[in-house]
Amino acid sequence: MTGFSHASTGVLIALVLPKPLVAVPLALLSHFVLDSLPHWGSDSLHGGHRLFRRIIIADAILGFGIVFLMMFLLPQHWEIIALCGAAATIPDLMWLPNFLRETKNRQTKPHNLLMRLHIALQFERRWGIATEAVWLLLVIWLTWRIVV
Ligand SMILES: [Zn+2]
Repeated sequence: MTGFSHASTGVLIALVLPKPLVAVPLALLSHFVLDSLPHWGSDSLHGGHRLFRRIIIADAILGFGIVFLMMFLLPQHWEIIALCGAAATIPDLMWLPNFLRETKNRQTKPHNLLMRLHIALQFERRWGIATEAVWLLLVIWLTWRIVV
């Protein structure tokens, strides 16, 4: 799932359950639950593709943007919003080293056990963009209802 969806879900968890000992592990768990739901993705996209690099950059901007926006709008909860946003997205940082190698047309390193487990959870389909969009709209709508 996109980093934006993961970060938005982490923010929502922070707002619904503002107890760090509950919310942060739940945000981390949410990453793997969301990855197991149908979402956008394709094995043919990698760091060597310009379009994919642009998508990743836009996704990172949106992901950081929603976290910083909510920290700004709800300063009384900024710490838990930051922690949950990070916990919900951080598992995907394991892909960064190979992504950077791909952008430089370098040989990628083999996946370790954790990476293979993470890949095994994925339910990526091109049509998954529809289910991911529904999820993202639901999360944003619920977050908006909490904020206003
Ligand atoms: Zn993931």
